[in-house]
Amino acid sequence: MANGSVRVRFCPSPTGNPHVGLVRTALFNWAFARHTGGTFVFRIEDTDAARDSEESYEQLLDSLRWLGFTWDEGPEVGGPHAPYRQSQRMETYTEIARKLQDAGHAYFCYCTASELEERRDAARAAGRPSGYDGKCREVTPEQKAQYEAEGREPIVRFRMPDETITFTDLVRGELTFTPENVPDYGIVRANGAPLYTLVNPVDDALMEITHVLRGEDLLSSTPRQIALYKALIDLGVAKEIPSFGHLPYVMGEGNKKLSKRDPQSSLNLYRERGFLPEGLLNYLSLLGWSLSADKDIFTIEEMVAAFDVADVNPNPARFDLKKAEAINADHIRMLSVTDFTERCAPWLKAPFAPWAPEDFDEAKWQAVAPHAQTRLKVLSEITDNVDFLFLPEPVEDEASWTKAMKEGSDALLRTAKEKLESADWTSAESLKEAVLAAGEAHGLKLGKAQAPVRVAVTGRTVGLPLFESLEILGKEKTLARIDAALAKLAA
Ligand code: GLU
Ligand code: ZN
Repeated sequence: MANGSVRVRFCPSPTGNPHVGLVRTALFNWAFARHTGGTFVFRIEDTDAARDSEESYEQLLDSLRWLGFTWDEGPEVGGPHAPYRQSQRMETYTEIARKLQDAGHAYFCYCTASELEERRDAARAAGRPSGYDGKCREVTPEQKAQYEAEGREPIVRFRMPDETITFTDLVRGELTFTPENVPDYGIVRANGAPLYTLVNPVDDALMEITHVLRGEDLLSSTPRQIALYKALIDLGVAKEIPSFGHLPYVMGEGNKKLSKRDPQSSLNLYRERGFLPEGLLNYLSLLGWSLSADKDIFTIEEMVAAFDVADVNPNPARFDLKKAEAINADHIRMLSVTDFTERCAPWLKAPFAPWAPEDFDEAKWQAVAPHAQTRLKVLSEITDNVDFLFLPEPVEDEASWTKAMKEGSDALLRTAKEKLESADWTSAESLKEAVLAAGEAHGLKLGKAQAPVRVAVTGRTVGLPLFESLEILGKEKTLARIDAALAKLAA
């Protein structure tokens, strides 16, 4: 589809932390807008004062910016349909609800919660559909007076037409809903507060949204919204019913739907662990879409160039953390070294870095960075990988120590120290020769010989390439750490 008039929207509610499902929805909408040269509208659905928070709103904006999304209309950028926060559009909804009622598309429902429940239970017991039964569709003036005298406060309910609703979902093809499965539903609370069921399609209509791409969990709202849209067209508020496409569920561990509450789904977690936005977006794009069968790693530009909703797969997608990390690692490798060193900056200082700021050495960092870049899955791993350079002593890790220090390790370390003393400290190759020779002297292969050296110098059994690490740390510190390890072994 190449059509300049595409208008899509991303319209989260500011409740809690942004989660990966939400980001996937934003991504597909954004990519569709960019691919078609259309408009990406960002709207905040904050009509639920009890659940929405300003903090969450700020986080949403911050997250979208971090991910690199830009919006053509929305908070802070404005646009022809401003304001884009529903909490600032309340009069519009009240007015439209009144018009719907005046035209007979909606009505006051005086049923109390317990009455509704009673009838629902009875319908279930009789094997009838258990949704709202239409009792208040026709309320006589006498009944109305009676209800009011009883102090009942009505909600506004939308009158679903008694007809089957069929639409072609952009992802799932033709879908049909029969009237008994889509009962009349509430659009305004008894206290006058408009509900999602009303404000979402009303704003889609007013903002001239052409394509609604959202999670499958919202599929059951679609027939209601289509009916409401028809009523809005009747009122002259809407022009056309948009197309709908429902993005597949994302499954987490144990093949359960990934829920907002799953720690695995929190965007902040990925950000704090040092996912690159481009790595995360690349991975999330694969939850229901693919560029081609043999290409998993691509840039956002490549995605935009290829993206079409028609290619979204309706089957549930599985969230696979290992794969997400592997893709991120590839994106880390794709950065220029300069970009990589800059992006690591947050993890090289407090609260992540354990060393004193004055012990950080920029030249050493620049020297070690290229070796780290090819090894990280997420940027936060940088801290542990380079702490041996900036801490006065290597970290104490008893498990590593026990694993590496075997019988005879002291003899090996003494020989290694001797050989390293006369090695060429401007060449990692020469340092390797020294440790190799020390190993030979004790009948050990390089792997076995370097383990105690690594733990003596870095405190850990795994890390960056050892001989480059020693060269960057320098002769004096390396030898002093071997001495300290020998002293510890002798104690
Ligand atoms: N505010 C709704 C949500 O976050 C939007 C649903 C929709 O895209 O229609 O679930
Ligand atoms: Zn009723």
